[in-house]
Amino acid sequence: MIDLHSHTDRSDGTFTPAELVGEAVRIGLHALAITDHDTIMGYDAAVPYARDAGLELICGVELSTKYKGQSIHLLGYFPNGGPSDEFRAWLEFLLESRRDRNRRLISKLQSLGLSITLEDVERHGRTLTARPHFARVLVEKGYVKDIQEAFDVYLDESAKGYVQRQDVPIDEAITRILEGGGVTSLAHPVRVAKNDWEKLAGYVSDFADMGLRAIEVYHSDHSPENVAYYKRLAEKFGLGITGGSDFHGANKPAISLGTGMRGNLCVPDELLEVVRAKVA
Ligand SMILES: [Zn+2]
Ligand SMILES: [Zn+2]
Repeated sequence: MIDLHSHTDRSDGTFTPAELVGEAVRIGLHALAITDHDTIMGYDAAVPYARDAGLELICGVELSTKYKGQSIHLLGYFPNGGPSDEFRAWLEFLLESRRDRNRRLISKLQSLGLSITLEDVERHGRTLTARPHFARVLVEKGYVKDIQEAFDVYLDESAKGYVQRQDVPIDEAITRILEGGGVTSLAHPVRVAKNDWEKLAGYVSDFADMGLRAIEVYHSDHSPENVAYYKRLAEKFGLGITGGSDFHGANKPAISLGTGMRGNLCVPDELLEVVRAKVA
């Protein structure tokens, strides 16, 4: 069993890199990819712990991209110990645009009558302050009863506090990852098109033309029907298959590293080859 999708507290997870490596070892994972949003600092910090524990650790990243006005998550994996310096510099630029979104989100929440500051949320987000950190502050201040309500009422795309982020176009993200020495995989396709399989197939065909290398077939949110369909889709377009839990620690308590939601996940070891594959 391996897990190719996980988050540390360097993005919106709650486990430190050391704790995440510890958990991977405890449950007997054969390999772990850390795929924090917009940053590889969690991976960098985890490297010595993984080396000491004899765990195969893969450098990954998850980017929020845009296609036809829709938000699409893209995974990038860097098999040779991490991306190029150019790619690292580009991630810095993405972090800056996220900070800009955070400033606008604070103004929006303040205009809705909430007493919340950037300092309040940045206390929770280390490298990167994301919406779960906003949610936690809203709970602490008693505006909502839990994280879920914070998203439902204020932070979700359809909620009244939502502000748009300047997401990068997916073709640019795919190209950047390839040029940075990486392999791309379409994250949790179930969120791209719920049950509109024709639409998803159209998107995947477009992304394959842009250089997409794989689809995340296995994910905690995927039903067995989803998995079967995404497998066929990968085959049809000559794409590889990846999979992972999307573990976030206490920010998504229903999901366990490796085994997903109530044990619905077991990613086979041979998928490692996809993210290990040398980029031509
Ligand atoms: Zn995602
Ligand atoms: Zn994720």
